[in-house]
Amino acid sequence: MIAVDLRQEDWRCAVAPLDGKPDVAEAGTHRSRDPEQVVDTVAQAVRRLHRRYGDRVRAICVAIAATVQHGRVVQSAVLGWDAVDLAALTADPRVPLLIGNDATLAGLAEARQGAAAGAATVLHLTVEVGVGGTLVVDGRPMHGATGAGGEFGHLPFGDPRLRCPCGARGCWDLAVDGRAIARRLGEPAPRDPRTYAEQALARTPADPAVRAAVAHAARALARGLAGLINALDPAVVTLGSLAESLRAAAEPEFTAALADGLMRFRRPNPPPVLAAALGRDGALHGAVVTALDHVLTEEGLAAWAAQCSSHPRHSTSAAS
Ligand SMILES: [Zn+2]
Repeated sequence: MIAVDLRQEDWRCAVAPLDGKPDVAEAGTHRSRDPEQVVDTVAQAVRRLHRRYGDRVRAICVAIAATVQHGRVVQSAVLGWDAVDLAALTADPRVPLLIGNDATLAGLAEARQGAAAGAATVLHLTVEVGVGGTLVVDGRPMHGATGAGGEFGHLPFGDPRLRCPCGARGCWDLAVDGRAIARRLGEPAPRDPRTYAEQALARTPADPAVRAAVAHAARALARGLAGLINALDPAVVTLGSLAESLRAAAEPEFTAALADGLMRFRRPNPPPVLAAALGRDGALHGAVVTALDHVLTEEGLAAWAAQCSSHPRHSTSAAS
């Protein structure tokens, strides 16, 4: 499997054998976020891997910071994209190209092999630029009717006076990330909200104003999480990336806001809120899980067997 993680600031391409462990082969930072340029750069990396591994490549899965509907990118608030065709990311039409939202795939990986392994109903939340996540039930993300579900960041848990780049008003996205921290500090909107948030988190212990702004974002995250727990009833919650960093930086505020937002009957026994185990590699692991699921279907195995029999050099010792 080839797994691609396409984020707001950078991208990575990994190869994974059947044990499902991704090995990053190529990576880079976007020189521009122009979709044609980004897709072309990543497509060249995929083609190089394809040439190296040839027929052994059985599926390509792309994790992207974008909304995915019917297997296609329809919008990315964080990359500033509308619909973008990723078809160039497979060099061989026989190799399926699977595309998933990065936070959804990270949640899938946490539920299958990470901090929530073994739990049947898992809510994963992550903050990079904005907040994303998924509800995973029995090892399957709940995608909705068209695959575009799980856009938790665009719930109206934010300030209704603010218009989100997604087009909606009052999105939660704008209340929990680097943009929220900068706004609180009276600083201009950062070009890279993730890097900005990381720098603010590093300044938190020494600077009371920054700590107050970070705590404000942590409370907004916890309040929204409480609402999602009330609505979705997960057995376990996992927090990825900056979501866990915000909690760690302002634990008392986060914990108080979470408890305050829960319905009374839940308070004595709320679901555990765990740090994600796979860190920033979650989406890459989720892409491998998705590709592997595809390869190991009856259809995927039949296609593989048919290809092996048409290329005797790949068949087993029967020929020797
Ligand atoms: Zn939005």
